[in-house]
Amino acid sequence: MPEIGIGLIGTGFMGKCHAMAFQNAASVFNTALRPRLTVVADIDEAAVSNFAGQFGFGRWTTDWTDLINDPHVDIVAITTPNFLHKEMALAAIAAGKHVYCEKPLALTSEDAHEMTQAAERAGVKTMVGYNYLKNPATALAREIIASGEIGDVVHFRGIHNEDYMADPAVPHSWRCTRDLGGTGALGDIGSHIISIALYLAGDIRAVNAQMQTVIEARPDPASPGAALPVENDDQTHAMVTFESGAMGTVECSRIAQGRKMHLAYEVTGTKGSIVFDQEQMNELHLFTAADQHRLGGFRRILIGPDHPHYGAFCPAPGHSLGFNDQKVIEVKCLLDGINGDETALYPGFRAGYEIEKIIDAMIRSDAEQAWVQV
Ligand code: NAD
Repeated sequence: MPEIGIGLIGTGFMGKCHAMAFQNAASVFNTALRPRLTVVADIDEAAVSNFAGQFGFGRWTTDWTDLINDPHVDIVAITTPNFLHKEMALAAIAAGKHVYCEKPLALTSEDAHEMTQAAERAGVKTMVGYNYLKNPATALAREIIASGEIGDVVHFRGIHNEDYMADPAVPHSWRCTRDLGGTGALGDIGSHIISIALYLAGDIRAVNAQMQTVIEARPDPASPGAALPVENDDQTHAMVTFESGAMGTVECSRIAQGRKMHLAYEVTGTKGSIVFDQEQMNELHLFTAADQHRLGGFRRILIGPDHPHYGAFCPAPGHSLGFNDQKVIEVKCLLDGINGDETALYPGFRAGYEIEKIIDAMIRSDAEQAWVQV
C-alpha cells in the first residue's frame, strides 16, 4: 500500500483527534493510501516532543514552516487557532501540499476566498474539518432527503448549543477576540450547523441574524484579578431562506447552560420529517406521512452497517460510533480524494468558503438589523 506523508500542526484538542484519525483510517477502511506520521509541529516544545513519542511521529519541530518545507510531507493538517489557518494553508499550498484544515476555514470570507483560489490554482486537494457531516446518521438523513421520501424540504431548524463558556470564570482566550478567533459562537460552532443546513437543505440565499455578547469580560489568564473584554458573540440566531424557497432557522450558543453537544436539526418535508440530536449521535428519527395511520409517530433508526461508513468499524447495528470515528471517516474521504475520487472531497475549501460567506452575511445582517442576501 503506498504511503502518504502527514505533517500535523497543533497538538491540542483537534491535533490529537487528527493524529488518531490518521493512525486508524487506513486500518479501518483499507484505503489505497496509508498515512505515515512524518512530522508534528507546535510552539509548545514539551507538548510537541511528548506528542511525537505518543503517536510515533518520525520527528517534531517548534517551527511550522520547517514542517511545510519537509519533502516527505504530502498532506499538511492544520489544527491551530483560527487566525493561523490562512497563513499556514497558503504556505502549504505554495509548497504543493494537500491541505486538511480545521474549521472555520478563515476569519473572513475574503480570506477564505483567497485560500480557495490558491488551492484551486495549485491543483492541491483540500478538506475542511466539518466532521459532523461524516456522522453516518447525517449521511443517511441526506440520502433519505435525496430519495424524496420526505417530499420537498420546506423547513430546516438547526441548533448548535454548548455550555463550554457559560461560566463567567472561564478565562479569556483567542476564542474571545476578533483578530484571533473571528466571530465567537457563530464561527466556532454555528459554522457546523450551517455546514449541515447546506448539506441537507441546499444553498442559503438570504439571512436575518442577531448576535449577542452576554458575558462582556473574562479573567485575563496572564494577570490575576484583571479582566479582558470579549469581542465576539456568545449567542447568535438567524432566520434563513434557502435557494429552494424553503424557510429555516439556525442558532448557536457557547453559553447554553447544560448543553454539551446539542447539535440538532429538524428537517420538515411535504411528506415527512427527520429529527436528529448529536448528543444521541447514533439515532435518526424519521416520520413519513405514509406511516401516519399505521404507526402514527416517528421511527427511531439506530445506525448500523447498512448506513454510510458504519460497517467498516463494526458489523453489528446499534453498537454506536463516537465523535472521533467521524474524524476517521473524514480522513478516509481525504485519502480517497487524493487517490482520485473527487466526489469524496467534501467539504473542501470551496465549501468552507461558502460557509464563511453565510457567516459574513449574518454579521452584516446583525449590524444593519435587516435581511441580507448572501
Ligand atoms: P487547542 O488550543 O486545544 O490547540 C491548538 C494548538 O495549536 C495548541 O497545541 C497550540 O500550542 C498550537 N499552536 C498555537 N500557535 C501555534 C503556532 N504558531 N505553531 C504551531 N502550533 C501552534 O485548540 P483546538 O480546540 O484544538 O482548536 C484548534 C482548531 O480546531 C480551531 O480552529 C477550532 O475551531 C478547531 N476545532 C474543531 C473542532 C471540530 O469538531 N472540528 C473541535 C474543536 C476545535
